[in-house]
Amino acid sequence: MPNRRDFVRTMAGATAGLYAAGRNAFSALAQAPAAPVRRREVFIGRKRIKVIDMHGHCAVPDVASVLKGTALERAAPAATGSQIIGPDRIRILDEQGIDVQVLTQQGAWWYNITDRDLARQVVKIQNEKTATWVAAAPDRFVALASVSLQFPDLAAEQLEDGVKRLGMKGGAIAAGNVAGKELSAPDFDPFWTKAQELGVVLFMHPGGNTGADEHLRGKGNLGNTIGNPLETTIFLSHLMFDGTLDRFPGLKICAAHGGGYLPSYLGRSEAACTRSPDACSEKKKPADAYFKTQIMADSMIFRPDGLRHLVEEMGAGQIVYGTDTPFAWPADVDFILKATFLNDAQKEAILGGNAMKLLHIG
Ligand SMILES: [Zn+2]
Repeated sequence: MPNRRDFVRTMAGATAGLYAAGRNAFSALAQAPAAPVRRREVFIGRKRIKVIDMHGHCAVPDVASVLKGTALERAAPAATGSQIIGPDRIRILDEQGIDVQVLTQQGAWWYNITDRDLARQVVKIQNEKTATWVAAAPDRFVALASVSLQFPDLAAEQLEDGVKRLGMKGGAIAAGNVAGKELSAPDFDPFWTKAQELGVVLFMHPGGNTGADEHLRGKGNLGNTIGNPLETTIFLSHLMFDGTLDRFPGLKICAAHGGGYLPSYLGRSEAACTRSPDACSEKKKPADAYFKTQIMADSMIFRPDGLRHLVEEMGAGQIVYGTDTPFAWPADVDFILKATFLNDAQKEAILGGNAMKLLHIG
């Protein structure tokens, strides 16, 4: 069972890493720590299992230095404390029983940078700083590379640099489209080519770019509540219907928020091909085939019946655990542990086993 010694060991490890990784890493460690928490260890039966959260946000405040004096100086949202990785984040992981969290930059604001050199500098700082955070607590974090998707060839370079030089486990796609252009357009082939060549996963997270903003105002936080899964649905549908997934059969895309709405209504995507075969001329397989192979989803679906359906459509081997930390969604490990329709092996796979394979971590 977890105890204070485990916590101290964790923090001691992080502190040692701090100095190894450079004086700026985990700078918040210098601040007064909050009360220690007991680290939750997750068991299935008597077996301690490793929990991997595929969906952890981070933001690097250092980008402000390269944006200073540019028109984009105010574009980068302030990197708030909750998105800066340090003891507070480890405390969240400990409380929630998360052993390893996968960090990505989200928001896609940097996809609007039109100056190629500036785009390169911003992503370099994002990735190098994130790698420093990982180095400070390598048993608790891994990261996926941020890229400049508005320059697909540069994005390919950045993905390779992140993976080969910085030890990142894949890449992050921070929006369903870039400046209104669908990511299934041939322009983006250099990026897909590189991801396939490297054999790494790409975690896709919507960035608030559905193009339907005028209808998503008002109560309900609809830009997030509906817009995010809608953006993901549109993104995945383009990759499928425009033939991208067939042209790059080695691609592995893990979509946030349960894969958006698409796995909930796959029948319509397939029925559309019966009704209008021409609409599906680029797609070589039934829709659900992609969801059993190339497309994965995190478990942020909130209701047991939603998860049961996701497992039914995709298979338990295609679903990974996700929390959206630091945002306070009700998405804790008990959602998986209490799922009566999952056997123990499926629970272990969703909570960590699938992600371990996907990320090539032991
Ligand atoms: Zn998120």
